[in-house]
Amino acid sequence: MNRGTSPLEILFHADQREVVDKWVAYLRDEGMDVKPVFREPGQGPTGARVAIVWMPPAELFQKEAKLEVVFNVGAGVDAILASGALPDNVDLVRLEDTGMGAKMAEYVIHALAEVTRNMGQFREAQKQQLWSPTSHVYVEDWPVGILGLGVIGSQIAASVAALGYPVMGWSRRQRHFDGVESYAGADGFSKFLSRSRILVNALPLTPETRHILNRETFSQLLPGGHVINIGRGAHLNEDDLLACVNEGSLAGATLDVFTTEPLPKGHPFWSHPAIEVTPHISGTTNARLAMRQIATKLRAWRAGTPFTGVVDRRVGY
Ligand code: NDP
Repeated sequence: MNRGTSPLEILFHADQREVVDKWVAYLRDEGMDVKPVFREPGQGPTGARVAIVWMPPAELFQKEAKLEVVFNVGAGVDAILASGALPDNVDLVRLEDTGMGAKMAEYVIHALAEVTRNMGQFREAQKQQLWSPTSHVYVEDWPVGILGLGVIGSQIAASVAALGYPVMGWSRRQRHFDGVESYAGADGFSKFLSRSRILVNALPLTPETRHILNRETFSQLLPGGHVINIGRGAHLNEDDLLACVNEGSLAGATLDVFTTEPLPKGHPFWSHPAIEVTPHISGTTNARLAMRQIATKLRAWRAGTPFTGVVDRRVGY
């Protein structure tokens, strides 16, 4: 199948028009002949076959009967799938890495240093002009378990393993990476947890993974467990986390994503001494790399050749 080489009409949606202007400029830098089209509220269908979107409203897809493929400018597609608005016959394509994996590995390593070396004590000591060195921290004491060994989780695993930490990984199907002890599926879950002290979540949000970070999960970690959630807020049962941290069965958590974002003022996480909060910044999108990847996939789509990153709707990622 060849889908032609004439200017390609693309239906765009982002929260700000300036964002779309940048996307269009980057696509043109990649040699794409793009004609942007937009759906205003109450307006009829555009007739576009391709859409490039970030956080689209459900109405965007309604009546766009000619739509064949939607590129999501993000790695997670849970919100689009949950809206139920995308017709089954439309391919949904997600971003693969585009710089996020390295950023998220950096975030995890920063959190590991904070936790394992208790860096907060030095900030406190500095306030009092106190010179109080600590002794060597042994990475062997801090085995790291990574939930999800996909594009992002595998990069985190490699980066953390390179620092000498024992690394465990968990995925749906059995994966094999150098330096990573891998577990898969329901059968491998408890064994994986029982070997991990730091638990990093890099899973997609699907019906199977919702609230996977719960009391039962935390109770199987090695003593002094710490949770780093960079997946989605709904992976975490927030009440369970608070209860476990308060009763001391979990030492703490580093949280980048939340059930409600922005995290509401007054939420107990904001002021909890054992919980670190960041505003969903662990894996920010590099728009230029994103459009470069989408341009490559659009060329394949036009030529009718296969490309990666197409979401399997049956499993939800
Ligand atoms: P991938 O699809 O490449 O990887 C997903 C991994 O999760 C795979 O290893 C997959 O297993 C595993 N997995 C999925 N479902 C299950 C399950 N039921 N049981 C066990 N393992 C499962 O995704 P990415 O690595 O690109 O992204 C992961 C997620 O990270 C995104 O969906 C998004 O939610 C989040 N994210 C967060 C960001 C932030 O800023 N906080 C930024 C970017 C992404 P298998 O290998 O067997 O397929």
